[in-house]
Amino acid sequence: NCIICFEEVTAASGFSNEDESSSRVVMLSQCKHYFHDECIFACVQSKTSEFLECPKCRTLHGIKTGNQPEGTMTYVVQNGMQIPGFNSTSAIVITYNFRSGIQGPQHPNPGARYHANAFPRVAYLPNTAKGQEVLRLLQIAWARSLIFAIGRSSTSGADNVIVWNDIHHKTEWQSNYSGHGYPDPDYIKRVTEELHAHGIR
Ligand SMILES: [Zn+2]
Ligand SMILES: [Zn+2]
Repeated sequence: NCIICFEEVTAASGFSNEDESSSRVVMLSQCKHYFHDECIFACVQSKTSEFLECPKCRTLHGIKTGNQPEGTMTYVVQNGMQIPGFNSTSAIVITYNFRSGIQGPQHPNPGARYHANAFPRVAYLPNTAKGQEVLRLLQIAWARSLIFAIGRSSTSGADNVIVWNDIHHKTEWQSNYSGHGYPDPDYIKRVTEELHAHGIR
């Protein structure tokens, strides 16, 4: 069955007005799932960016981009920082910075102000081969505007603020008071999966 309209793929689309073209079926190129032409087209039209997530298996087709506002991402490799749980004696220190501004048409409240609270924010990775690979993926995520978004802060409840966009970062490197620190042996694996889920490889 077409999981968008729940009709069989051999029958007409539930979105249609019963003309002949409405029973046309398309297969997505990456995951090979079938949908009615009209049903998947209705999904694409409801999005603002040039990608489609398969409604059945969530495989991304095209490039997913976010609504992160203008800002900067910089990093340095800092010697003498041994992150607990890794044997590298240096760390990758990433700094994100934003200024407050006015929301554009791609944001939740166009024309309203958005606020850059608690910036710059600093995140840490071990300077290992896998840590460097996560940095590479984060740089792609940054270029695609996926690391931050404008939305509601889960800590303060405030709207129209710049928030993390479900790619987890470590904001403490030798402690874990916030729950976003080290040691965390599975972190590299988890954040890599989070980046893959956004289509970043
Ligand atoms: Zn359908
Ligand atoms: Zn699929």
